[in-house]
Amino acid sequence: MTSARPRVAVVGSGPSGLYAAAALAASDTAVDVDVLDRLPAPYGLVRYGVAPDHVKMKSVIRVLARPFGPGEVRFLGGVTVGPGPGAVPLPVLREHYTAVVHASGSALDRRLGIPGEDLPGSIGSGAMVGWYCGHPDHGVAPRLDVTGVAVVGAGNVALDVARVLARTPDELGSTDVPDAVLEALRAGRVRDVHVLIRRGPQQVRFTPVELRQLGDLADADVVVHDDGLLDAGVPDDVTDRHERANLAVLTEWAHATHGTAHRRIHLRFLRSPVRILGTDRVTGIVVERNVLTPDGRVRGTGEEETLDVGLVVRAVGYTGEPIGGLPFDTATGTVPNVAGRVVDADGAAVPGQYVTGWIRRGPTGVIGTNKHDAVEVAASVLADLPALPPPVHPDPDDLARVLAEHGVRPVDWTSWLRLDAEEIRLGQARGAERVKVAELADMLAAVHGATTGAEPRR
Ligand SMILES: Cc1cc2nc3c(=O)[nH]c(=O)nc-3n(C[C@H](O)[C@H](O)[C@H](O)COP(=O)(O)OP(=O)(O)OC[C@H]3O[C@@H](n4cnc5c(N)ncnc54)[C@H](O)[C@@H]3O)c2cc1C
Repeated sequence: MTSARPRVAVVGSGPSGLYAAAALAASDTAVDVDVLDRLPAPYGLVRYGVAPDHVKMKSVIRVLARPFGPGEVRFLGGVTVGPGPGAVPLPVLREHYTAVVHASGSALDRRLGIPGEDLPGSIGSGAMVGWYCGHPDHGVAPRLDVTGVAVVGAGNVALDVARVLARTPDELGSTDVPDAVLEALRAGRVRDVHVLIRRGPQQVRFTPVELRQLGDLADADVVVHDDGLLDAGVPDDVTDRHERANLAVLTEWAHATHGTAHRRIHLRFLRSPVRILGTDRVTGIVVERNVLTPDGRVRGTGEEETLDVGLVVRAVGYTGEPIGGLPFDTATGTVPNVAGRVVDADGAAVPGQYVTGWIRRGPTGVIGTNKHDAVEVAASVLADLPALPPPVHPDPDDLARVLAEHGVRPVDWTSWLRLDAEEIRLGQARGAERVKVAELADMLAAVHGATTGAEPRR
């Protein structure tokens, strides 16, 4: 059946894609919206990034799911847009839609650029977080048969990784981590998690709430290594509310007597990694001591120390992947745009192509930041629709045929809800809201109507 209404594809079902879909669907303009995602499950980093013990944060999925009522926005999961086998090339997709909104996020880990970074046992936070969040691309467990782990970074993702590694398996049992993750953590030997922070306590990008959470773990102590920077407490001239809150809690920990917990999280300020040691796997990391300069920067002192670690996780930020055929700014890892309209090197709009979320503005901000962004982009799309040519193939059935030609059997919303129900079923016996199904084959079995065969664990 041919549709005379404009058709918009949103590529990516993370917060930015779903907020954009909601804004488009809620407008007075009659428009058909399809949300495509390479995974059979929606929600992007809300499902595969937000830490499992941040249960409240994940409740935002109730809001994000709203556009998918019957007869409203369609979900086409398991559809990758781009080059490569089994993917639908963008020019092909473009023939089926009046406009395409790219909301594919920034999934690549930034690198440290130091020797030893590619040794087994040195991984990006994407692999680590993806593993404990049950992302089907990251089924391989990191090395946990080690006592020391270094986490490089001064943001909330570094804290998430350190916290998950330092929690007891019992604490994580009531979260959605897959059973295999729980078992690997239970069998692991991790005792000391060293968070390596290039600058001082005042410069960290941790949010105070996340920082304070480290102090609430059942069997882990926090040890602050501050080179005396916290001796004087919170200086009067620090006016930023977050900085003051962070400094207050760090000062308290720096002056506390260390407990006897089984695990320790070491916050090592003014330390930069310079080499990762090992021949066939990571055996240690060499860090250089820094000092703060009067203008708030850091300078290496040349003084080095070696930490005994068998796993290094770098959590120093993310960058986006180019989207085939669209302009790309390699420095920022984003697609150049004006109000979400993709623009070429001369600043001219590329007709019918839009970006939102992390691929638009880079990997910063919280989930809610993507809403404002998506609403603005949806307004640009709606303003342009009357002037955009209709799709070459306006019939949704043509798209289904093309997907089949590419060997793709899309997962619709009802099918995703079967996987959702299966995860909730698996969660019941663990006292968790859900337990993730992480293997792609098991996910697909569940969406297509089979149970995963897994029995809830007691
Ligand atoms: C580890 C981590 C923890 C975080 N924790 C929090 C938190 O506790 N609180 C908070 O507010 N924010 C948190 N954030 C930030 C928040 O997750 C992001 O702001 C938000 O997810 C960005 O949304 P997005 O839609 O742009 O990208 P994403 O959420 O990454 O979504 C992108 C989607 O696009 C899909 N996709 C990618 N490429 C393709 C393709 N070629 N074809 C089809 N689909 C594709 C992906 O599968 C994915 O579903 C966290 C981020 C990270 C990395």
